[in-house]
Amino acid sequence: MVGGGQLARMTCQAAIPLGVRFRVLADSPADSAAQVCAATTVGDYRSLADLQDFAAGCDAVTFDHEHVPAGHLQALERASVPLHPGPAALHHAQDKLAMRRHLTGLGVPCPRFAPAPGLPEIIDFKEMSRGWPVVLKATRGGYDGKGVWVCETPGQAAEVLGYGIDLMVEEHVPFEAELAVLAVRSPFGQGAVYPVVQTVQRDGICREVLAPAPGLAPSLAREAEALALRMAGELGVTGLLAVELFLADGRLLVNELAMRPHNCGHWTIEGARTSQFEQHLRAVLDLPLGVTAMAAPHAVMANVLGGSDGDMLGRLHHVLAADPALRVHLYGKAMRPGRKIGHVTALGPDLAGLRRRAQAGAAYLRWGEAAAEAEPADIEPVPAVSPAGKLGEGTRT
Ligand code: ADP
Repeated sequence: MVGGGQLARMTCQAAIPLGVRFRVLADSPADSAAQVCAATTVGDYRSLADLQDFAAGCDAVTFDHEHVPAGHLQALERASVPLHPGPAALHHAQDKLAMRRHLTGLGVPCPRFAPAPGLPEIIDFKEMSRGWPVVLKATRGGYDGKGVWVCETPGQAAEVLGYGIDLMVEEHVPFEAELAVLAVRSPFGQGAVYPVVQTVQRDGICREVLAPAPGLAPSLAREAEALALRMAGELGVTGLLAVELFLADGRLLVNELAMRPHNCGHWTIEGARTSQFEQHLRAVLDLPLGVTAMAAPHAVMANVLGGSDGDMLGRLHHVLAADPALRVHLYGKAMRPGRKIGHVTALGPDLAGLRRRAQAGAAYLRWGEAAAEAEPADIEPVPAVSPAGKLGEGTRT
């Protein structure tokens, strides 16, 4: 796996029972995956020579992020390195404009969009769509909301244009909820899909994942699953495909694609019969896929973001003692404000209770004893997920 972040770390964990000899190309020995993977190579994913050396002797090469330069991927493919996903598929996870164009061509519903080389194009687009605000996005290289700007005025758009990066413009979708669906496809052509989840984002960062998406009409859940499987086939994805969706006016719109294990699937480690990490390994090695059914009625995952420095072992001790059924994952990453440093998962029948417990655990790991003051909203019960008449039972026919 190219990249040594937490996704590689958790994939390494899944490789153990399968007997897979898992290797990682990490930036440094301190990377999250490098800390736990014995077969770590330290190198630069932007260097073709480093990629070639790393790939030598691998039966499958896959990715923890989408930042490997496209030209290097093509060179590796020409040299018959078994890349999963291959560069043609990965292009659509690397370049948001290419992804929007391709999906629209396939008839997949997406927000309205246009390239945004300058202010006149943004103003034209605004007139053809819903008006202000519009969303400007870096076509490449964004993550966790970095590279996404909601602009209310031409002045704000001009400021973003001033950064000098390639941009696209999108209508600002007044969505009711954000959903995600995780599909997987093997080179043989076997496909599988996990239950559709709801993701709760704050400041562009995923804070919580609720599985299955509470109150989602079964017809929409089937539609999302079918869409993800169809896209995995049409784009030629091998391995996982995460599809981030908006639910707006009772319709699904595709926001974003990723072709690797994804934050929206961390709950599957305990909450599904096969974790996304094992599933990705099975797929890229062309093994039969595992069962995607849930292991509990509900799973709630809350991300642990970097907060205050402190005695992490003491915080862990407290959380494990306070709630022994909570499952804690810490990634071995240094505490930096807002950075994803871990997640917690709670499983069971009572969704509201699971949310409270997962959020309380995540907030304590983040802030220690100051959690209640630092993040009061996070540890309070959160209002019902389904806006009446949109996501709820009432929309069933
Ligand atoms: P990233 O690559 O950083 O994850 P995304 O395209 O997923 O970027 O956007 C991050 C978040 O910004 C989304 O989860 C959503 O909350 C918000 N967002 C993105 N695009 C739009 C849009 N067109 N309309 C409204 N909100 C949006």
